[in-house]
Amino acid sequence: MNGPGEILRASAARFGDKPALVTAARTLSFTELDATSDRVAAWLAGRGVEPGRPVSLYAQNRWEWVVAYHGALKAGAVVNPVNVMLTPEELAFVLRDCGTAVVLTSGEQAATVVGLTRDLADLDTVVTFGEAIEGAVPFAELLACDGPVPQVETDPDSPSTIGYTSGTTGHPKGAVQSHRAVLWNCAATATMHGRTADDVVVTALPAPHVYGNVVINGTFLAGGTVVLMERFHPGETLRLITEHRATLFEGVPAMYSMLLADAALEQADLSSLTRSTVGGQTIATATIERWEERSGAPLIELWGMTEIAGLGTTHPVHAPRVPGSIGVSLPGVQVRIADLEDVTRDAEPGQPGELMVRGPVVMLGYHGNPEATAETIEPDGWMHTGDIATMTAAGHVFVVDRRKDMIITSGYNVYPAEVERVLAAHPGVALVAVGPVPDAVRGELACAYVVRAAGTETTEEELIAYAGSRLAAYKRPRLVRFVDTLPATSTGKIMRRELIKQF
Ligand code: ATP
Ligand code: MG
Repeated sequence: MNGPGEILRASAARFGDKPALVTAARTLSFTELDATSDRVAAWLAGRGVEPGRPVSLYAQNRWEWVVAYHGALKAGAVVNPVNVMLTPEELAFVLRDCGTAVVLTSGEQAATVVGLTRDLADLDTVVTFGEAIEGAVPFAELLACDGPVPQVETDPDSPSTIGYTSGTTGHPKGAVQSHRAVLWNCAATATMHGRTADDVVVTALPAPHVYGNVVINGTFLAGGTVVLMERFHPGETLRLITEHRATLFEGVPAMYSMLLADAALEQADLSSLTRSTVGGQTIATATIERWEERSGAPLIELWGMTEIAGLGTTHPVHAPRVPGSIGVSLPGVQVRIADLEDVTRDAEPGQPGELMVRGPVVMLGYHGNPEATAETIEPDGWMHTGDIATMTAAGHVFVVDRRKDMIITSGYNVYPAEVERVLAAHPGVALVAVGPVPDAVRGELACAYVVRAAGTETTEEELIAYAGSRLAAYKRPRLVRFVDTLPATSTGKIMRRELIKQF
């Protein structure tokens, strides 16, 4: 196999009529997924989409999305999965940046995309998964195409996808991922998490995101079934786990907090779960412990990023627990902790430095941005992750925080994640995020933005005192603001940079 576009053919041959994908609208077997994506490939080729042309997907998690992803890859197109939460301006930026020829989208978003065709010279075709609208081709037409399936030779080192980063710290950047990188990550993740044909995976991770991608395609590779939710809803998740006897649930930390707070948790039958996975953002130890206790199975931490087409570290499924660690590097992925002042040197053992990665999963570069690529990938292949971490002699990595989110107060470095972890353990706190507030004397102050737990009335003084007794004085938050929600990306990551706007 040379790339992710070959996964379905192989799994259809091995697992045939076994269910591969279950959504609210439809269940498709491996054979059906393979055959329907062939139709999409045939249609795109008939439409003149040549190998290497970008094709964008801009829709919620739907079965059509998955079919379109594989169909476009089979046609040799470079797939650009777009976060459905982007505003029309951001979407226009991404489509122009990629030079997209075809956008496959769904009902709600289709009108926006059709509106953009006027301004985007490269964009000539809009396909809609939903109701027919003027200016867009209905997806049914693709599925009815009886043209020949293009026979494309895949060079594993050529671009397979252009994935945009979550935009947690600013403008999303387009990471060009090779076929090798994507397939490698799906396979390595499947190995680490012990995916098998007996797995039934429930997830609401967005399909365009790398975490969603390795979960979906890593499960297909192993012959397991993916129960894909259009969007996350805690009660519905619990119902699906119960109904499908799910063996695996996978999500970002905020999803676990919401599941644990949901009224339906008490009746849910989680006994079929053999493990769950979590990543994308730091998770509070208390949340891990509570989910493990309630599900009776391990919650495996993982760390990943768009620029490496998925995961960089996680724990092998049966390995003993290392609390707070994001795990060890995936097979084929090298990691090291670089000195913060001199990237050519390793940090002292146990000391924080920048997490660097190297190997076949590393992106080819940022699309159309050679400067950013050169700043991110060193000439010897080591890539900057922008994350501060430590590593033990046994190779267990601990993320401290993002380099960009560090708060500097009176000259001391405060990592918001450390403060958040402490506050998250307070019973009156449902969700918390820490961000900087400018201060004339100290430069910056740490402010905690807190969503109160239902039925509790914690105060600012109480939380500051609570943190004060557990953290060094300079790390203590000086301010607490109570809010109803925290600003999050579509993957559920809290955007700390947006917090200041709520001040
Ligand atoms: P942008 O690069 O646009 O600001 P982003 O970095 O959030 O957005 P992604 O590629 O989706 O975009 O996320 C990768 C980042 O997520 C990592 O660099 C890291 O900061 C964070 N992350 C991922 N997993 C974990 C984890 N288990 N613990 C802590 N942080 C994590
Ligand atoms: Mg990033």
